[in-house]
Amino acid sequence: MHERFAIAAGTIVPMNEPPIENGVVVIADGKIEGITGREQLPRDLPLQEYPDGILMPALVNAHTHLVLTAFRGLADDADFFSWLTDHIVPLEIDRREDECRKSARLGIRKSYRHGITAIAENHYTFWGRDAMVELGMKGVMFYEIFGLSTLDQSQSVERDRIVIEKLVSESTDRNRAGVSPHAPYTVTPTMGEMAREISGKLDLPLSTHMAEPYDENQFFMKGEGRFADPRHAARWPKPDGERTSLKYFDELGLIGPKTLLVHGVHLTYADLDIIAKRGCTLVTCPTSNAKTGVGIARVSEWVKKGIPVCIGTDSPSSGETFDLFEEMRRMVLFQRGLTGETGNLPAESVIRMVTTNPAKALRMEDLVGDLRSGSCADLLLVQPELEGVKKYRDVYNTLLWDVTSENILATWADGREVYRR
Ligand SMILES: [Zn+2]
Repeated sequence: MHERFAIAAGTIVPMNEPPIENGVVVIADGKIEGITGREQLPRDLPLQEYPDGILMPALVNAHTHLVLTAFRGLADDADFFSWLTDHIVPLEIDRREDECRKSARLGIRKSYRHGITAIAENHYTFWGRDAMVELGMKGVMFYEIFGLSTLDQSQSVERDRIVIEKLVSESTDRNRAGVSPHAPYTVTPTMGEMAREISGKLDLPLSTHMAEPYDENQFFMKGEGRFADPRHAARWPKPDGERTSLKYFDELGLIGPKTLLVHGVHLTYADLDIIAKRGCTLVTCPTSNAKTGVGIARVSEWVKKGIPVCIGTDSPSSGETFDLFEEMRRMVLFQRGLTGETGNLPAESVIRMVTTNPAKALRMEDLVGDLRSGSCADLLLVQPELEGVKKYRDVYNTLLWDVTSENILATWADGREVYRR
């Protein structure tokens, strides 16, 4: 089906070139044909017009678990350890497939509603991935590996390897495969080595929960804290007072340019040097971290080290929503509150954390993240409150400070309208 139409907006924010006033994005067969002026448009081309709107690339969510969408409110006042071990793990054991599949579909509809058309999904079932394929959500499905209570590791490593190979064989340009060694405290050396080996062999990106709770490094460095358990002590390296969880994964060869490190709340300065050297990407989930009480990631320090940063929502069971505008604002406010510094996170760089940076980290920059010709027509239209705004702020600051979910008018994926207010 050949379909060609155009969307005109007061401001277009392509992210691969400076903002354009009164531009028009031309869409043909689900792809961006180009950005042009009104004068160049053929008369018979269907045109949608939003003179007060801002048209930008749809957002990319660098970390979530679609399957957990419907479990929002499960443990509102639990701290991270209790949230995970008393609520999420038992829920995952008792899980019902139909409920989880429904939950994943709900997550995608909510993502579209918040302007997101590509995600990094993380789970050990294909339920989230199946919903993505069904509803046209792009992204990488990071298959989660963990070995906390696994007795026969070689058997489970073999099983995981077969599942990952299946995932890769079913991958397409838009729905790709990745590996998630879940977290240092759930991944034994045997499991970590398998993740490194298979990600190397099949050229797959890696994503892991790194330095999220305080107790993680207590366990790795001192053998103390709530993760300390004789069962674990026998499987993980003996603490030497210096090996942080990041160093543990680095020794396993899991820290490299293809790796997304999610959370990073308790990374040390030495960890940050390793991360910068290895060329990985850091992903922050500000609401999830604050709500589960693990703390505030020092994103300002990450940026100072030149590490690429993305923002993720995590799942609504800890992060509440898929609202990346709220996450951007909270991240900046938390950093200002934490450091007293106000000038080191320019609005444009923050918008990149939900567009170009995650597109690149997921190696999907040819499809999403900016409005280059030939990429997918994945677009987001917002219309902020106009009064008292325009004369002070540039468009990036408007997007950062003025836009709430109420200002999202429409989302397109491959030129198809997937949300309209
Ligand atoms: Zn997560």
